[in-house]
Amino acid sequence: MPFRLFDAPMREPSQFVGFSGSDLDRQSEKRDEESLAKALADPAARLMLMRGGRAYLKIAGGCFDPHFTPAESRALGARLEFSVLLGFDAEGPRLAAPAGVEPEDLPPAIKAIDYRSVYVQGLLRPADLGALAQGASLLAWHSSHRFCSRCGHESEMRHAGYRRLCPSCGTEHFPRTDPVAIMLAVSGDKCLLGRSPRFQPNMYSCLAGFIEPGETIENAVRRETLEEAGIRLGRVVYQASQPWPFPYSLMIGCYGEALNEDIHPDFSELEDCRWFSREEVRGIIAGKHEAGISVPPAGAIASHLIRSWAERDD
Ligand SMILES: [Zn+2]
Repeated sequence: MPFRLFDAPMREPSQFVGFSGSDLDRQSEKRDEESLAKALADPAARLMLMRGGRAYLKIAGGCFDPHFTPAESRALGARLEFSVLLGFDAEGPRLAAPAGVEPEDLPPAIKAIDYRSVYVQGLLRPADLGALAQGASLLAWHSSHRFCSRCGHESEMRHAGYRRLCPSCGTEHFPRTDPVAIMLAVSGDKCLLGRSPRFQPNMYSCLAGFIEPGETIENAVRRETLEEAGIRLGRVVYQASQPWPFPYSLMIGCYGEALNEDIHPDFSELEDCRWFSREEVRGIIAGKHEAGISVPPAGAIASHLIRSWAERDD
């Protein structure tokens, strides 16, 4: 078999999902102990501010602007010494910082909006949404990893937010990304969708679960599908990934070839799980399903997996 790398699409599918559009130059190879101070001293520096799972956005003329100057950030109580450097765009450095002022104390021209709504409602440009995911994930990791997991001493943020160093035992800690497998099982002209009790009424989606230590992506896809639905999968193929800042996951989207069709749902995870024909899924996507069933909004990786499969003719 020839090596077929160049049959890959010019725009890989990951580019079509939300939170994936960051165009910042991270300059990760240049990060050092001076990077944060240098970036903050740049007059072109702009910060994204976040607190409690919400992004602070300026509203002007019906548009949302996520960028604050260092002075504006301080006025909102942000502690810039705890900011993280996201990277650089054509204008200058881009950072993220924990905001200080509570959402209810914000001036009227600034709103605190939860990340999910920012994403579902399309309030930001794809590039800014990608930067938001990066900042939200990093800030969440710092706030939940203040203490050294080796000796328990309080650790310190280093390298513009990409490390923590324990001053007591010298251990360095690095930001986490938690991989989650999300998959669409397919059998002939049908796909498998499930409903978690946490979903909004009538919504069905792909199955998903955390990849465990020592497990390949493909084996995690097979294990989760078997555990949640009783469906055994043969071939598994990767399709796309999506940064998912809740709090710092990477969703890894795959298709799987089902080897049986008798579903045995795990009712501790799912309240329903069933096969849908391609025609039925096309109707769902068009908003015309007779029982009012829906799938996640465009931009979600589950939606991308479902739509890409439904739109195919094979
Ligand atoms: Zn330590």
